[in-house]
Amino acid sequence: MRILAIFAHPDDESFFCGGTLAHYAAQGLEVYLISATRGEQGEIRHPAIDPERYPKGAARGALREAELRAACAILGLRPPIFLGYQDSGYPLAAARANPKGLMHQDLGLLEEELLQHIVRLQPRVLIGFDPQGYYGHPDHIHLHRATLGAFWRAGNVMEAPPERLFFPVRPVERVAQTQFDPLRYGVAANSVALCRDVRPYAETIRRALLAHRSQVGPEEDFPKVLEAWPGVLEEECFVLGGLRGRCPRMPLGDLLEGLE
Ligand SMILES: [Zn+2]
Repeated sequence: MRILAIFAHPDDESFFCGGTLAHYAAQGLEVYLISATRGEQGEIRHPAIDPERYPKGAARGALREAELRAACAILGLRPPIFLGYQDSGYPLAAARANPKGLMHQDLGLLEEELLQHIVRLQPRVLIGFDPQGYYGHPDHIHLHRATLGAFWRAGNVMEAPPERLFFPVRPVERVAQTQFDPLRYGVAANSVALCRDVRPYAETIRRALLAHRSQVGPEEDFPKVLEAWPGVLEEECFVLGGLRGRCPRMPLGDLLEGLE
């Protein structure tokens, strides 16, 4: 059985559902990851990495590509598939001013490209961004729209289209512990399809996050990462964004419950 996760930037996979991806990979499933960009606009947060040596654009993208490859190896995922779009940057004002960024690219073409990968890989389950893009990054929101379109359009062109689409989310109470607006980015507990206890994978997630050296910084500063991302080593929650066929119960005991 195959799972395909579709994210926008290197490190999205580790922050939003690294433990879940690692879990299914450890179960022997083939877990694929699409990264729409190489994170070319990411700020460098590691004092040992000179930002001038890796200016925003291709050089920074190459640095972050290598980091994502390392994180995928730690999580047990297949090597990442890059779509080759440009990171729009963050926050929104920066992204708007960057016409080459993913958020400005044709949504229909992006959806078509995702669909071709879905047809080729034949995943049973997709994981991708929710409508708010986890915390509102415009690339995440753009990719959400394309992923949702590709999930449903797969039913027109595949004999066995993916059966479930899940969005990683955080409950309102969890988002309230962060800098983000809980009413905007949190979901109500009773709309959550599954919260997975990922503590057995805490060390794997931690190592995958640290593989994103430029973004996460040195190991001794990891407590700061935990402050900004409370619960990142503890639980990962999902809502159901699309469903074909039946859902055995809600909430689910496992993302794959009832799938053969
Ligand atoms: Zn991202």
